[in-house]
Amino acid sequence: MARKNRKRFFEQLEVIDAGAKGKAIAKAPDGKVIFLSNAVPGDIVDVQTFKKRKAYYEGKAVTFHTLSNKRTEPQCEHFGVCGGCKWQHMGYEHQLYYKQKEVTNNLTRIGHIDLPEVAPILGSEKQYYYRNKMEYSFSDNRWLTQEEVASGQDVGDRNALGFHIPGMWDKILDIKKCYLQAEPSNTIRLAIKAFAIKNEMEFFNTRNQTGFLRTLMIRTSSNGELMVLIQFFREDVFKRTSLLEFLKTEFPEITSLQYVINSKANDTIYDQEVICYHGRDHIFEEMEGLAFKINAKSFYQTNSEQAYELYKITRDFASLTGQETVYDLYTGTGTIAQFIAKKAKKVVGVEAVPDAIEAAKENAKQNQIINTEFYVGDMAKVFDEAFIAKHGKPDVVITDPPRDGMHKKVVGQLLDLEAPKIVYVSCNSATQARDLAILDQKYKVVKSQAVDMFPQTHHVENVVLLELR
Ligand code: SAH
Repeated sequence: MARKNRKRFFEQLEVIDAGAKGKAIAKAPDGKVIFLSNAVPGDIVDVQTFKKRKAYYEGKAVTFHTLSNKRTEPQCEHFGVCGGCKWQHMGYEHQLYYKQKEVTNNLTRIGHIDLPEVAPILGSEKQYYYRNKMEYSFSDNRWLTQEEVASGQDVGDRNALGFHIPGMWDKILDIKKCYLQAEPSNTIRLAIKAFAIKNEMEFFNTRNQTGFLRTLMIRTSSNGELMVLIQFFREDVFKRTSLLEFLKTEFPEITSLQYVINSKANDTIYDQEVICYHGRDHIFEEMEGLAFKINAKSFYQTNSEQAYELYKITRDFASLTGQETVYDLYTGTGTIAQFIAKKAKKVVGVEAVPDAIEAAKENAKQNQIINTEFYVGDMAKVFDEAFIAKHGKPDVVITDPPRDGMHKKVVGQLLDLEAPKIVYVSCNSATQARDLAILDQKYKVVKSQAVDMFPQTHHVENVVLLELR
């Protein structure tokens, strides 16, 4: 039996909202919501849908009758094709408005929370060039523009160094200029690409698993340190050395020049040996006089300036006096733990990644902090009664889980623990709301503050203070 054609066309719809996953929202005449990838609230558009689900459509605006006054000109020439920075076409104050709204909606609709007066979202001073880490992929299968395809002509060079096209694992968009990381990031990327082409170095082919150059990572720190890491698919001493020597000579400002030779199918470097070619195998980030050592595998918040704001809010919410035992759950490299240590009696950090805990201990030592302790383990397993008996009942728990939120067992343990205060830092207010709904039986939300770490995207961080009822 032929399937019903589920594509629909709707005329003259007003775009009314923006939210989850960065999509704009309109309402179809049948009352269903339509998620649009290319519109801004206030636009009046004709819509072509391409997917129908039970409760909503997915579609695209194909004719724009009125353009919203919330629009602004995207800075980037790759806007609309690149998967990053999807909200560049919306003025920053409107981005903030919709982020705030998303958090409030999630906390009230999913969390059923009686919200206290919510502090206005804290915007990022830098709206571009705010990231300290970028990762690019080499490919010999460059994504072609519609014009190139339409021309029917031989497009010549198919090499690319850039980002994956959303949803296409083997197609890379060649990036001319990215607005996310400050110079010399773009200059270095372009110089590497030009040098590699001139010297006939093969770019990777994901489908066939062939080629030489695989990925490029560039990390910068607020005190001007710079890490460049190149991942090769196989060893070729002559070519590898010539590229690394070129970088060393051409960019003497590189603090840490490293490489990986990874012949696995996937390109994550976490299980690979990272080799330092020149300089140190790490850079330092600084915050309020504390130094954090960052190696190629370390996690560090990618917007350093806003991380500082986020941590200050977290510390304020914890309102420490110096007498408290604090738990810092999902501590990563122990940044929050060290940041608050001066104001607490003791901070106990827990984290699943052993390397991160090693770095946390080392950083604490370098920073001459003596009242932090760090433990490795899966939170759902480690954080039990024996752990609490050993470390003492906390006065404050800070928790900063990944996007999935906290494991049910961890939430259950928090309920049994009955710490007077919990500060919940979240990068996903939907899972935060889900966890708050469970905590609600014993805890009241007394403060909530959203922080924008990622301008031009829909992502938003939210910090909540909970007090025992
Ligand atoms: N608070 C830190 C890191 C937050 S990111 C900072 O601000 O830098 C969340 C952290 O949770 C990551 O470091 C991740 O490795 C860790 N994590 C994820 N799942 C975990 C689990 N099940 N148990 C313990 N830690 C986990």
